[in-house]
Amino acid sequence: MSDARTPLNLLDRTPAAARAAVAAWIASQELPRYRADQIVRRLWTAPVADWADATELPAALRAGLARDFPLARLAESVVQRSADGTVKYLFRLADGEAIESVLIPSGTRRTLCISSQAGCALKCAFCATGTMGFRRNLSAFEIAGQVREIILRDPADKPTNVVFMGMGEPLLNWPAVDTALTILNDPAGLGIGARRITVSTVGILPGMTEFARRPEQFRLAISLHAPTSPQRLAIMPVEKKYALDDVLKAAEAFRKRVTFEYVMIGGVNDADTDADHLAKLARRLGALVNILPLHPGGAPGLAPTRAPRIRAFAERLRHQGIEATVRRSRGLDINAACGQLRVEVEKNRRRDATAARTGAAEAIAEAIEVVPAHEVEVE
Ligand code: SF4
Repeated sequence: MSDARTPLNLLDRTPAAARAAVAAWIASQELPRYRADQIVRRLWTAPVADWADATELPAALRAGLARDFPLARLAESVVQRSADGTVKYLFRLADGEAIESVLIPSGTRRTLCISSQAGCALKCAFCATGTMGFRRNLSAFEIAGQVREIILRDPADKPTNVVFMGMGEPLLNWPAVDTALTILNDPAGLGIGARRITVSTVGILPGMTEFARRPEQFRLAISLHAPTSPQRLAIMPVEKKYALDDVLKAAEAFRKRVTFEYVMIGGVNDADTDADHLAKLARRLGALVNILPLHPGGAPGLAPTRAPRIRAFAERLRHQGIEATVRRSRGLDINAACGQLRVEVEKNRRRDATAARTGAAEAIAEAIEVVPAHEVEVE
């Protein structure tokens, strides 16, 4: 139970745990028990920005909630909109860290790509987030709260699908990701179907074991990006710790359909022999292959594979019976690559402290280079 000295962030707990805390508080206030459901509903299923907006509750109750269970927010810092409908958000956290989310609409589907860490320690060569290093893990609220913020802005934008493909390696932040998955999926939380929630990992073995224990049909994507161990080591230092073959064995144990994510990098992993090796791995797991063009601006020193080569690579996979999809480029006119917006904004901050202080998207967008981006559309 909470008191005025120790306000509790209900948004950092599973809906069941939040309900238990609210029910105890309701009892201590000698309020009718049905109030607990009314209150919990306002966390995720019909979220309010502030308890004052929950006008179905008496004013005194709202004041008590604001005192004992203040509703945390992610402060929106920059929003970039692409002409193709992709929207990139940079959220400022309470301690000043910044994280990114990307909303990718496609027909009736709205996929939100969310972050699980501020920065990332893994330094994949093709990733802007890797260049900034690890800052800290996000809390469950800071992860699921990215979805909540989108709904607060416009309930019609509620994501239908969520992918953990933003900043950070989700399985290096398992306790918070575990709670966030429950919040995302629980009908008393955001109610997004498990099959529509994908966790993407480079292959953190202990985290994969934990994730496999969840009974829901969450999707697993492996950030593969190279078909052999030496090639992977050249672009993904994590290969030293968790070798490709062990990652594939852990994925085999997952017992659910797996997707391979494969960023195509010119002259690095896009040869016919690479397609043949990749086909072998995909066949072994019955995996789908998502081919992603590289963001040219997000990876200094690496060049994207040209479109005809990408098509030929995908065709070669298909001829070997592999289901391969080339993801459509999204957000070409914004910094839609993972970590790109934050990296650019930080650079810009140093370059022009005044523009950064305003926090205005326009000021920052003018000062930064427009970088072609590949942001993927995930089914
Ligand atoms: S690709 Fe993912 S794991 Fe690799 S550096 Fe970027 S955020 Fe980290």
